[in-house]
Amino acid sequence: MTKTQERVPRDIWWSGRAREAGFDSAEAAAAALGLQRYRLEQIYRAATKELVDDFSAISVLSTDLRKHLAARFKLSSIALEREVTSKDVQTTKFLFALADGKEVEAVLMRHREGRTTACISSQAGCALKCDFCATGQGGFFRNMTALEIFDQAVHVARRARQDKLGLTNLVFMGMGEPFLNYDAVMDSVALLNDGQGFNLGARHITISTAGVVPGIEKFAKEGVQINLAISLHAPDDVLRTGLMPINKKWPIATLMEAVKEYVAATNRKVFYEYLMLAGVNDRPEDARQLADLLGGPLHHVNLIPYNATDAPYRRATPAAMRRFQDILRERGVPSTIRHTMGDDIAAACGQLRVDALTQAHKAG
Ligand code: SAH
Repeated sequence: MTKTQERVPRDIWWSGRAREAGFDSAEAAAAALGLQRYRLEQIYRAATKELVDDFSAISVLSTDLRKHLAARFKLSSIALEREVTSKDVQTTKFLFALADGKEVEAVLMRHREGRTTACISSQAGCALKCDFCATGQGGFFRNMTALEIFDQAVHVARRARQDKLGLTNLVFMGMGEPFLNYDAVMDSVALLNDGQGFNLGARHITISTAGVVPGIEKFAKEGVQINLAISLHAPDDVLRTGLMPINKKWPIATLMEAVKEYVAATNRKVFYEYLMLAGVNDRPEDARQLADLLGGPLHHVNLIPYNATDAPYRRATPAAMRRFQDILRERGVPSTIRHTMGDDIAAACGQLRVDALTQAHKAG
């Protein structure tokens, strides 16, 4: 296994771009184009630091070289298909096509408190079939490459820049399960994190997992400051298995053991995502059970309002969410009630793709 610190961002970027252009390696591409090392550096910087979207705009290169490069390489492995902004202008959702036509989504969130967050995908589709999730309902297509993952962040950052905003945070909470595409995700993190390039600090990046235990164990050994979020959604196995089939493979006790080891190894706080579904997991006894489960100091629960999909669930009421939070607070468990963003544009995981499919059906 390559540790994140040993992943060299510029090499990851160039070997990806070279492969997309049909070369075996970055070296082969550089040799074919007569590119010297410093040129590779200049182009990498222009693309990842200055967020240039076209070779013609890289002014440190000669016009000839720019043309040459544009004929062989692309600066992005993803193409924007659709972009929708919510009425309150806080949320913009993007649907991208990968080179083979598979579709993935990303979201830009302009928080009122000043943060600007990108939410990106790690797989085209998802194999985990969580009952409440639109992505799972659509099935799994394939893993994304490190560059496909990273290029979403570049696109979202460029879009934020149009509004004079800089990205402050990034979450792996779009389509897919990051820990089932571990290496590509860690390579993309190295790219995001590169001080010479995209330069987003590790503490501002969060990886969210449905509970892939071997992934959590590996991640604990990375020695990085990236945040870990666990999609828990239920405090007991019967309930959780009903919502998330992955719980059969790694039940709550196994999951919590891995999280405990992660906390011991990193001394970092763990975030728990808890989707609030009316009458399913929002009862006072669920809150009490959840508090009992989360022993120890380093945790924070995010209580998330459900975004409607085709699944037969309803969003918990604000009163139920407050009651749930009160019980957690009484038991010393810190939590935040997340407000919904992008409700009117179906901004939850996998929903835009489903929307596009429905519209295509209607049109056809
Ligand atoms: N597979 C990873 C990351 C992608 S999902 C994971 O499970 O954590 C990101 C988050 O969105 C998860 O917490 C997921 O449970 C949540 N989510 C999925 N569908 C949702 C919906 N309809 N409404 C609100 N949150 C949803």
